[in-house]
Amino acid sequence: MSTPNAPQLVIWLLTARCTQSCLHCYASRFPKQGNLDEKRSFDLLNEMAAFGVNHVGFSGGSIFLRDDSLRLIEHAYRSGITTSIVTSGLDITDEIAEQLANCGTFLFLSIDGPNRKTYERLRGSGSWDYVTGAVEKLRKFSVGFATVMALNKLNWTEAPDCLSLAKDLGATAGCFIPVMPAGRASMDLILQPEELMSTLQKIDKKAEELQFPVSLWCMPFAGLVVQSNFVHYDFCRTYDEMDLDPQGNVLLCDVLDTRPSSVGNKPLSQAWEEQQESQIVKSVIEPELASPCLDCPFRDKCRGGCFARAQLMSGNIHAPDPLCPKVAGLI
Ligand code: SF4
Ligand code: SF4
Repeated sequence: MSTPNAPQLVIWLLTARCTQSCLHCYASRFPKQGNLDEKRSFDLLNEMAAFGVNHVGFSGGSIFLRDDSLRLIEHAYRSGITTSIVTSGLDITDEIAEQLANCGTFLFLSIDGPNRKTYERLRGSGSWDYVTGAVEKLRKFSVGFATVMALNKLNWTEAPDCLSLAKDLGATAGCFIPVMPAGRASMDLILQPEELMSTLQKIDKKAEELQFPVSLWCMPFAGLVVQSNFVHYDFCRTYDEMDLDPQGNVLLCDVLDTRPSSVGNKPLSQAWEEQQESQIVKSVIEPELASPCLDCPFRDKCRGGCFARAQLMSGNIHAPDPLCPKVAGLI
């Protein structure tokens, strides 16, 4: 299988710094200091533009704790690269929202519960006010946003209500992702396959009822469960993207600490080549499938599902996705 000549998308964890301590934070495992410095960060954006990267998805941590974050977003915009940010909304002010609007930046706003009680169990006291305040500012300056709900043991029964809230708030879509046991997230938060399957069925039904778009992240098996044309899901084993941690390490996936390369001390083009040539990347692009994936209708695209979850939950990156309902014997 051929791989792309350049990443179409770069997911860049700009900083792990944050003033919150959310129970399910995957970025807590990164050092708070030692981010790529400002010069290397701007140079990297220049390399991305020259290399043909279309989009940079900034994540954190709270990226606005980096002094240069807005300037980096503006530089990307002027270089012809579109941007998005995954954020809790914590530090968004009127000034930030206005600048994001000027740069056409899209926001993925973490809304892990449809009410203060559920949200603050995960994100701490006062966090509901931050996120609802952020929504007001985004709407004031017409910044496009989708909501993101990280599905876990403390909120999964409220997923349909969260989708209704997303529509009511003026989001363009509701995104859902299962919490992974990385960083601060313990196994106690991780859903069982039957809980996730039931949640997907309810989200599917609610999307149809609301006629509202849903994006399912990191659930490449979702096609076994969902039917609504409003519900979309992706596959990741094509490797047309690059994930960077705050120090510039290239990550196999942003929830794993496997590092096929780094942009800290070498050009992006070289790091991309090293990523694509690494044995571990090749092995997840073209895995040796076993039962039950071998006779699965989604095998050509899904290719065994989420390898990061397999690694984190079973210790074997080549095991089939433990949350897939077919792997779990539910269908
Ligand atoms: S390996 Fe898993 S967590 Fe990583 S991008 Fe793919 S589906 Fe998502
Ligand atoms: S059985 Fe395997 S290939 Fe099929 S959806 Fe599940 S993880 Fe993917």
